[in-house]
Amino acid sequence: MKELIDRLEAGQELSKEEYASLISGFDSQLSEYLFEKSCRLRQKFYRKDVYIRGLIEFTNYCKNDCLYCGIRRSNKNAERYRLSKDDIMLCCHEGYDLGFRTFVLQGGEDPYYTDEKMVDIISSIKTGFPDCALTLSVGEKTHESYKAFFDAGADRYLLRHETANPMHYSKLHPSGLSWQNRINCLYDLKSIGYQVGCGFMVGSPYQTAEDLAQELIFLKKLKPHMVGIGPFIAHHDTPFRDEKSGTMELTLFMLGLIRLTLPYVLLPSTTALGTIHPLGREKGILAGANVIMPNLSPVSVRKKYLLYDNKICTGDEAAECRQCLQNRMKSIGYNVVTDRGDCVSPSMQL
Ligand code: SAM
Repeated sequence: MKELIDRLEAGQELSKEEYASLISGFDSQLSEYLFEKSCRLRQKFYRKDVYIRGLIEFTNYCKNDCLYCGIRRSNKNAERYRLSKDDIMLCCHEGYDLGFRTFVLQGGEDPYYTDEKMVDIISSIKTGFPDCALTLSVGEKTHESYKAFFDAGADRYLLRHETANPMHYSKLHPSGLSWQNRINCLYDLKSIGYQVGCGFMVGSPYQTAEDLAQELIFLKKLKPHMVGIGPFIAHHDTPFRDEKSGTMELTLFMLGLIRLTLPYVLLPSTTALGTIHPLGREKGILAGANVIMPNLSPVSVRKKYLLYDNKICTGDEAAECRQCLQNRMKSIGYNVVTDRGDCVSPSMQL
């Protein structure tokens, strides 16, 4: 097994079977072996810098009904909210003063935010904060909408593909949602010029080691600038309420494999990882991640953007979150930096 990791480190491609054997057979010793290499590689491109992204969860209305998600349309117990443009600008001001140079606007697929409204919000943020990068994460849209957002100044787009296996996708989503469309969106975003982030949940219901192996093959093909992964965690008001959560160990192992597969990639250590273990985010960095995404949403709405149960940091002010994460990163020898944190040498690597 170590030999497979050595091959990955040397830049060689692994077959799906080889990836699957690593994923189904790893233990703590192999993880340590992997993390030593993934950290060395991350350090080569990004030193011990950790980029911060200020996450603004601006709406929890969603027209979709993904079976795993706490803000799915059918969840009548979700208390819905929307932030106004002024609310969003206030979050950015607060974030800017705290040293954030990337803002991420994330929300459910909410038709209330027409293209016109989105373009207005995007251009206001880019005019108000010209030295900041703006990431959108608002789901599947048409080419025209993506282009309009890009032309208004959006720099990056996060759209987790959720799984690289179309059969698996159909077990996680209602029939109206199409795997192929989601994948097409990712290629579309890339062709428009966005820095693109895809991603998936680790341990989602019905997922196999082969599926996870397929993820790595897919990533190698798409060559995204960012990859967001985190453990699946059940939400009590969804059809998957009784499903087991993904494990921290497997999520960390996947982070390490992603770093070796795409050395240059921006890789967040996610809130979901911090939710299943108190030191999850630190461990994510020590497995090869280099991004954290503290919450900038107003505290009054934090608990309402509940994708899964027991989500952490729902009561803390932005400044507290920022300080807490800085201390956590310092405790493991890493530095939170005030930087846009773009993907290194994309032309060379992508
Ligand atoms: N609507 C946008 C979209 O579709 O990309 C962005 C919001 S969506 C809620 C953000 C991500 O949350 C999803 O891509 C999914 O991977 C993750 N997520 C949703 N429910 C989850 C759960 N129960 N456990 C872990 N992650 C979850």
